Amino acid sequence: MGFLKNLFGGKKGGSGGGGTPWKCGQCSATIQMPPRLMSIISTDINRFALGGLAGYCPSCNTYLCSKHLEFINPSNGEAGPWMVGCKRCRTAVTTGP
Ligand SMILES: [Zn+2]
Ligand SMILES: [Zn+2]
Repeated sequence: MGFLKNLFGGKKGGSGGGGTPWKCGQCSATIQMPPRLMSIISTDINRFALGGLAGYCPSCNTYLCSKHLEFINPSNGEAGPWMVGCKRCRTAVTTGP
């Protein structure tokens, strides 16, 4: 009993400073979280690509790479604004929980 220090010493985890890559919760691809996700105003969303984007779906509690993301248009406006959303549940993603 008492004050045993385990061999691993100290706390586990912690984000350990900037630049740590995330892993996609669906396919384990390494993802690079953008500093922020912006919405796009455009009548032709097909001109924009999701390539390299990543996001966190607060509804699935999962980090997602661009394969599981799509542009969603929650307000149904003619020109958007289009947001980056989860393909599975069509929730707008964020940059983290
Ligand atoms: Zn993925
Ligand atoms: Zn989702």
